[in-house]
Amino acid sequence: METTNIKAYGNQSAEAPLKNLNIDRRKPTPHDVEIEILFCGVCHSDLHTARSEWGPTIYPCVPGHEIVGKVKSVGTHVSKFKVGDTVGIGCIVDSCRECQYCKDDLEQYCEPGMTGTYNSPDKNLPGNPTFGGYSERIVVDENYVLRIPDNMDLASAAPLLCAGITTYSPLHHWQVGPGKKVGIVGIGGLGHMGIKIAKAMGAHVVAFTTSESKFAEAKRLGADEVVLSKDEEQMAAYRGKLHFILDAVSAQHDVNAYLALLRVDGSLALVGAPEHPLPISAFSVIVGRKSFAGSAIGGIKETQEMLDFCAEHNLAADIEMIDIQSINEAYERLLKGDVKYRFVIDMKSLKSN
Ligand code: NAP
Ligand code: ZN
Ligand code: ZN
Repeated sequence: METTNIKAYGNQSAEAPLKNLNIDRRKPTPHDVEIEILFCGVCHSDLHTARSEWGPTIYPCVPGHEIVGKVKSVGTHVSKFKVGDTVGIGCIVDSCRECQYCKDDLEQYCEPGMTGTYNSPDKNLPGNPTFGGYSERIVVDENYVLRIPDNMDLASAAPLLCAGITTYSPLHHWQVGPGKKVGIVGIGGLGHMGIKIAKAMGAHVVAFTTSESKFAEAKRLGADEVVLSKDEEQMAAYRGKLHFILDAVSAQHDVNAYLALLRVDGSLALVGAPEHPLPISAFSVIVGRKSFAGSAIGGIKETQEMLDFCAEHNLAADIEMIDIQSINEAYERLLKGDVKYRFVIDMKSLKSN
C-alpha cells in the first residue's frame, strides 16, 4: 500500500519522553477521508498508553484520540464528506463491521476488537500500529469520521471526541435525567464533561473532588453540590443518597467509599482506568443490591448524537491550549490533577518543528 511520510510526536519506549518523529500514513483509499489535524485533546489514556501502564504498548507510540480537523481530500467512493468539511476522529478508526455489536452501533465492543486510533495493529499497514492525533494528518474510513456541528469552537470541541462520549454514553445508558441524583467523581477532563452533560440531561449533580481549587469552582461547571472527598464528614452526608455514580478517577482510590453513597439498586460505573486493580468489599454491593459496572467510550452513532447534543446545549470543554513541544510537561501536570480541565494541542505548533 502506498504511504506518505509525515511529522508526528511520540515516544519509543515507556520511559522515553515524547519527541519529534516521522510516521507513514496510507494514501487515502476509495473509502477514506484524509484530514489535516488542527487540534488534538490530551486524554489521560494517552499518558497511560505512552508509558505502557495498561500492558505492553507497541512503539513508536503516537497518542491522541480527540482530533478535530479539516478534510483535505476524499477517496472516490466517499459520500458523507467533502474537501473543507470540519470533522472529528475519536477513539475508534475501524472495527469488523460484521459482528452483532458493530451492527448495533456498539463498535467499541466489537467482538474481534475495534481498531483504536492509536496503539492497535493497523489492518492496512500490517506490522505497524495505528498512530493517533499528535501528527499532521490522519486517514480514516468515512464510516468512522464524525461531523463537528457548525457553531462549535473547534479547540474546545476536540475533547468531546473522547471525554465527551465516555461520559455521555454511561449517563445515557443508566438513564440519568430529571429526578435522579448523580455523583461525578474526579473532576478532570472526563469528570468536568460528566458534570456538564449530566446537568444538561436534567439530573441533580453532585461533584466529588480531591482538589480544593476545583471545589470552589465545580458549581460554575454545573454541579448543584460539591463534596471534598477527603473530608469524611462531607462524604457521610451523602450515604445512600445517589441513584448513579460516574467514577472518572485515573489513579488508585477507594471505590467502596463511593458504593456506600448509592441508594438501593444504584449503580456505580467506572470509566477511569487506573493501572492497578481496585479492591471491592463484598458488602459494598451486597447491602443495597448495588451494581459495580464499567463503560468504554461510545459507538460512532452515539458519538455523533453526543456532538449534536453538546451543540444544542452549548456544551464544550474548558481547555488550556498548549504547543506540542510542551506535551511532556503537560503529562506531569495531568498526573498532579493540575489542569482545568483539558489540555488541547494547537497542532500548528508541530509544523514549526
Ligand atoms: P484526568 O484529566 O487526569 O482526570 C483524572 C481526575 O482524577 C483528576 O483530575 C483528579 O480529580 C482525580 N484523581 C487523580 N488522581 C487521583 C487520586 N490519586 N485519588 C483520587 N482522585 C484522583 O484524566 P481523564 O483524561 O479525565 O481520564 C480519567 C481516566 O479515565 C483515566 O484513567 C483514563 O485513562 C480513563 N479513560 C477511560 C475511558 C473509557 O472508555 N472508559 C475513556 C477515556 C479515558 P480531582 O482533582 O477532582 O480529585
Ligand atoms: Zn481518551
Ligand atoms: Zn465487530
